[in-house]
Amino acid sequence: MNAPRTAPATIPTPDWDGVRTDFPLLTREIQGKSLIYLDSANTGQKPASVIEAVDDFYRRHNANVSRAVHTLGTEATDAYEGARSKLARFLNVRADELVLCSGTTFAINLVAYSWALPRLKSGDTLLVSRMEHHANIVPWQLVAERTGARIKVAELTADGSLDLPALYAAMTTDVKLLALAHVSNVLGTVNPVREICREARKRGIVTVVDGSQAAPHRALDVAAIGCDFYAITGHKMCGPTGTGALWARREHLQAMPPFIGGGEMIREVSFEGTVFNDAPHKFEAGTPNIAGFIGLGAAVDYLQSVGMANIEARENELLAHATEELLKIDGLRIFGRAPGKAAVISFLIEGAHAHDLATLLDLEGVAIRSGQHCAHPLLQFLGVAATCRASLAFYNTHDEIERFVVALKKARGLLA
Ligand code: PMP
Repeated sequence: MNAPRTAPATIPTPDWDGVRTDFPLLTREIQGKSLIYLDSANTGQKPASVIEAVDDFYRRHNANVSRAVHTLGTEATDAYEGARSKLARFLNVRADELVLCSGTTFAINLVAYSWALPRLKSGDTLLVSRMEHHANIVPWQLVAERTGARIKVAELTADGSLDLPALYAAMTTDVKLLALAHVSNVLGTVNPVREICREARKRGIVTVVDGSQAAPHRALDVAAIGCDFYAITGHKMCGPTGTGALWARREHLQAMPPFIGGGEMIREVSFEGTVFNDAPHKFEAGTPNIAGFIGLGAAVDYLQSVGMANIEARENELLAHATEELLKIDGLRIFGRAPGKAAVISFLIEGAHAHDLATLLDLEGVAIRSGQHCAHPLLQFLGVAATCRASLAFYNTHDEIERFVVALKKARGLLA
């Protein structure tokens, strides 16, 4: 069940035009124009192999997991557990420490309700960074409300990096938990989570890392990060929606009570009491998104066939190109310039509202996101009501970046 990681093979640089043809949706037209999809931080597009894996499950193998001894039931269970093993190898963690769930939001809530709620009390502090997605803020607020613990905010520097000296100074003895994004979904900042988790651990602070925006874009070694919990979401990593996972250290999983009760998570039930299953099944009550996880397993296979190092290098190239072109536009301001940032570009153009720009870009077939990106406290820090966000993936092209910039200049002209 728990295959140790072998050294990742170096995958030759793929033919990126060929990679693109793996994604059926990218051939679509929007408003009579070829789609330029620059919203991968919101959700990633799916290669044909993922769509086919889901389709194949429903056409040929559909059955529930872990209940039936018939052939289909065994096939479904093997495929579902096979997906867990693939994901575990992808993250370099043990499969029996990986709880499959609907995504990062569920994963963080599981930690909040099952780890934090029974432990925290008045006088304790939860440390959360300014750049968090609401999924890594609101669950902690709910815990704080119910326990009397308070929330402290780790602030940022002007380029959108975490202020590390301030963060370490904020790790006082009352801090019991640090919740932190690996990669910001707005700024693209890549936090030095390994170093931060080491510092937290020295002080006895439990760490929760939100890996939603990291897992799709770089090779991960969660074991080496040294955190206590790591959350990922499948739909941003070429997998189906409604899939994700929480990795947790074994000692936490063993100590944590179940969060949701029902079938699958029990060993024995009587009206006198229930004996729970072992982790990770203890946290997987009810029928899971079987087809979705089989699709996520196919997504992991796909990402690994392209090569995570290739993906990171390709996205860095696209980011450099897009940043250079965007900065040539008069009045354009980019939010988040941390060194080594990921391929997420939040921007505004003076005099133009973010939603107007996004609407005009849609008329040109360009899909970007506009708004607050589920990060109100960060937008308050940036002092703006909304931004536009172009988020890139390895399946984007240099030609798309050129056409995006032309479309943006046209939109700006119309709004000026
Ligand atoms: N954290 C971050 C950094 C995100 O970008 C997102 C998705 N936008 C989430 C958490 C929430 O993930 P999900 O919707 O899959 O639960």
